[in-house]
Order: sequence, then structure tokens, then C-alpha cells
Amino acid sequence: MTYDFDLFVIGAGSGGVRAARFSAGFGAKVAIAESRYLGGTCVNVGCVPKKLLVYGAHFHEDFATAQAFGWETGTPSFDWRTLIANKNREIERLNGIYRTMLGNSGVTLLDGHARIVDPHTVEVGGIRHSCERILIATGGWPSIPDIPGREHAISSNEVFFLEQLPKRVIVVGGGYIAVEFAGIFHGLGAQTTQLYRRELFLRGFDDGVRTHLAEEFTKKGLDLRFNADIARIDKRDGVLQATLKSGEVLEADCILYATGRRPMLDNLGLEHTAVTLNDEGFIAVDDNYQTHEPSILALGDVIGRVQLTPVALAEGMAIARRLYKPEHYRPVDYQNIPTAVFSQPSIGTVGLTEAQALKAGHKVRIFESRFRPMKLTLTDNPERIYMKLIVDAGSDKVLGCHMVGPDAGEIIQGLGVALKAGATKAIFDDTIGVHPTAAEEFVTMRTAVGE
Ligand code: FAD
Ligand code: NDP
Repeated sequence: MTYDFDLFVIGAGSGGVRAARFSAGFGAKVAIAESRYLGGTCVNVGCVPKKLLVYGAHFHEDFATAQAFGWETGTPSFDWRTLIANKNREIERLNGIYRTMLGNSGVTLLDGHARIVDPHTVEVGGIRHSCERILIATGGWPSIPDIPGREHAISSNEVFFLEQLPKRVIVVGGGYIAVEFAGIFHGLGAQTTQLYRRELFLRGFDDGVRTHLAEEFTKKGLDLRFNADIARIDKRDGVLQATLKSGEVLEADCILYATGRRPMLDNLGLEHTAVTLNDEGFIAVDDNYQTHEPSILALGDVIGRVQLTPVALAEGMAIARRLYKPEHYRPVDYQNIPTAVFSQPSIGTVGLTEAQALKAGHKVRIFESRFRPMKLTLTDNPERIYMKLIVDAGSDKVLGCHMVGPDAGEIIQGLGVALKAGATKAIFDDTIGVHPTAAEEFVTMRTAVGE
């Protein structure tokens, strides 16, 4: 049987575009449908605009630092509209690059919502396209708990397009997005409160990192509240009133919920297939990203494994190679994925946390360091850097590297290579430091905690 396409990709985000471009490059006839924005979450309402806002927010401290180095900066003022307009222009430029890139790679781009009609047919804008395989790459969507007054809250989808910088902000959640936006709003000058429902935010990160960041947030004047959650939101005279479960009422001009993301399956037509969902509601796939429907695959946030752009890219690459260039196929290695949280200060982490290492049965040696960034030594900014290494006491292998401090993501990328290569603590010790940097501390920590 002949089809219109070998592969029909639904969703032109990080993973979908990667799979489509490389499959076409390997000789497949490929279509991709996008209903909203080229480049997906990462480019439009995720990694890219978020990082631009983080840069914008950090200037607040940079101006103060500059004065200690002799610069007369006057009284800086900030204009939210300028930042958002410039950000929007950059995103539009990236959207255009995606369109050109897909065109140049021979992929047929269909603008519109795609709906699966049967396991070999996808409908976009009333036109049906037959295909040998379908790849679902529809990503995720913010999930906000259904509390009274939920309609007054915003999610990360709206936060990038606010008309003005709110004066008072409440951020709900204790994951990546919540800590990043708490830092952004605080840095830009909004009075910011972060609420997290348990005892310490960033569950799943190393406890040393979690505690250190909480201390740094508090030192900066962010109102950080643990074991706190909103019961209801009311709007009175244009002001939002958040009634906490404790009964306390907080007033705000903006309430941002960053309480996780659900898979985007809306009107996708899964009921016409044998595709099943896992216990968390994400699309169930095997190690080859194969769903229960033989002709349908899925990748990225919609399968809910590791919701990071480089992981979606790697999955897209693996699918393209396995299907159309099998001699180049390598499965995605989910071990030792480096990741950064662009809080202020930022987190960089790769490998096991201390708790995970102990749970896995390792006898561990822990190396820790806390120190002042050299750049701040001329200032009265009390921010400190935190670094931690987790080492297997038997094999000497470094199991995990964790950091809180400036450029943590930049530093941890290189350490990710070291961990992937199986580096031991002795190899870290034999590595000559780059001086004077913060990163050199990772190769000069000599005494384990308690030794
Ligand atoms: P997406 O990029 O979400 O793409 C899915 C695409 O499918 C979308 O464009 C959507 O419009 C389209 N679509 C959905 N349904 C249909 C349909 N039926 N028909 C047609 N098109 C459809 N990750 C990092 O690694 N680093 C970061 O710093 C980072 N920051 C983030 C900040 C925020 C605020 C958020 C929300 C996420 C962030 N992420 C970050 C996560 C990252 O954005 C995602 O992991 C990544 O985008 C997932 O890629 P994907 O291809 O699975 O889906
Ligand atoms: P996360 O899953 O990271 O965090 C969700 C947070 O919301 C958790 O603290 C969770 O608490 C809390 N929460 C969940 N449900 C509720 C509820 N009903 N009421 C109150 N609190 C609740 O999700 P995010 O939305 O922050 O981000 C989604 C994903 O996007 C991330 O996991 C990450 O993979 C990716 N991302 C990556 C970034 C990066 O690489 N820098 C940046 C931003 C996003 P609890 O701990 O109790 O479960």
C-alpha cells in the first residue's frame, strides 16, 4: 500500500522537529503539523523566553555589583514592555528560522490542528493525509489545581505576555518553573512570595542544593513559605486575595501557578487508535517509543519521562535513526542527564543525589564546599556558592555533582561528560584547575565530610 507520507509528525516542538528533519534527511517522505507555534514550548513559552527574562532580572544585582567596581550607574529603572517587546521579536525570528529549516530539509509543513482519524490517517484543516507511521510529539500543557477562583490565576503560558510587571506576585509550586519565576519577579523588583505545599521545595534534587537555595532566596528578601498552599482566590476591587489553607489571606496583583504539566492530548483522536496511557496519564510507550498501536510512536513531554528539551531532541534523533538509518541507531541513555534550574543563583546538577546513592546501596563519601563568588568580594552581597560531590567509597567513581551558584548550568555541562566517561574522584583530583574560577573547586575538594 502506498501512503501520502512515510512519517506524519504531530507537533513542531523540540522533539517533533528533530525527528521530522532527520527522517527527511535520511530519505523518508515526512509531514509535520503545528497548531500553535513553530519550535513548540521551549522556543515560545519555555526555555528561551524564560532564560531571556532571567538575564533581564539579574541586572538588578549587576548594577549594585558594578558600583563596587567603581562604576557610577545612577538609579537604574526597568521597563517591562521593552523587555517583552524585545523578547517577542527574538522569538519571532526563531519561529522564522524553524519555518525555513523545515522547508530546506524537505519536510511538508502543515499549519493547523492535527487529529488522528485512524492509525494511518491524520486530518489537518479538513484534509486527510495517509501515512505509514504517525509520531505524536504534542508536548505538555500547564496543569492548575481546580480550586475556587482558579480563573484568577495564570500559568507559564500567560506569564510571558503580561501587559505590565505586577507589583505583588504569588508563585505557587516548588519545581523548576516556580523557583525560576520567583527569581525573575523578585529580580525585576516585584514583591514576591513563593508558596510550596511541603517542607522544602525542589523535591528530587539533592538536599544540600535545596537547603542552600532556600537560604539564598531568603537572604535576597524573597518571601518563601513552605507547608503553605492556597485554598481559594477571590478578586476584590481589582486586587487578588489568596486565602491560604492556614486561613491567612495574602493580597497580590498576579498569582502564577507552576504546579506541573499534563500531556497535550486535546482533540487528538486517540480514541480511534489502540494507544494507551500510563498511570500518570502520559502516552505509554516501550523502549522504542512505540505505543500500543503498531503504526504510532510518541516522544518528548507527551510521554512524560524526562521533560527537558535536550531529551526530546535525543528521542527524536533516536526514532529517526532507528526507522530510516538503522546502522546509525543508538538508544537514548537516560543515565546522568545534566540539568540546570535557572533560579538566582542557579542550580546545576548531574548524576545521583546523596539520597538516591544511599537508596541504591552505595557506601558514599561526600565532598562539600561553600564559598563566596570572587566577583562579589568587593560588594556586600552575601550570596554564597555551594558545591557537592557524591563518590562511591568502594570504586571511587563520582556518582553525582551538584552546584548552586552563578553559571552552574555552564559548569555542570562539562562535568556531565566526566560522569558519562565514568570519572573517579582520583581523576577529578588529577585534573588541573582553571584559576581563578569557581569551577576549579570541583577538582580541589580533598577532604570528605566527616573524615
Ligand atoms: P513541545 O515543545 O511542547 O512541542 C509540542 C508542539 O505540539 C507544540 O508546538 C504544540 O503547539 C503542538 N501541538 C500540540 N497538539 C497538537 C495537535 N493536535 N496538532 C498540531 N500541533 C499540536 N527544558 C529545558 O531543557 N531547559 C529549560 O530551561 C526549560 N525551561 C522551560 C520553561 C518553561 C516555562 C516550560 C513550560 C518548559 C521548559 N522546559 C525546559 C521544558 C521544555 O520546554 C520541554 O521539555 C520541551 O519543549 C518538550 O518538547 P516536545 O517536543 O515534547 O514538546
Ligand atoms: P515540576 O513537576 O517540576 O514541579 C511542580 C511543582 O508543583 C512541585 O513542587 C509540586 O509539588 C507542585 N504541585 C503539584 N501539584 C500541586 C498542587 N495541586 N498544589 C500545589 N502544588 C502542587 O513542574 P513545573 O511546572 O515546574 O515544570 C514542568 C517541567 O518542565 C519540569 O519538571 C521540567 O522537567 C521542565 N522544566 C525544565 C526547566 C529547566 O530545565 N530549567 C525549567 C522549567 C521547566 P510536589 O513536590 O509536592 O509534587
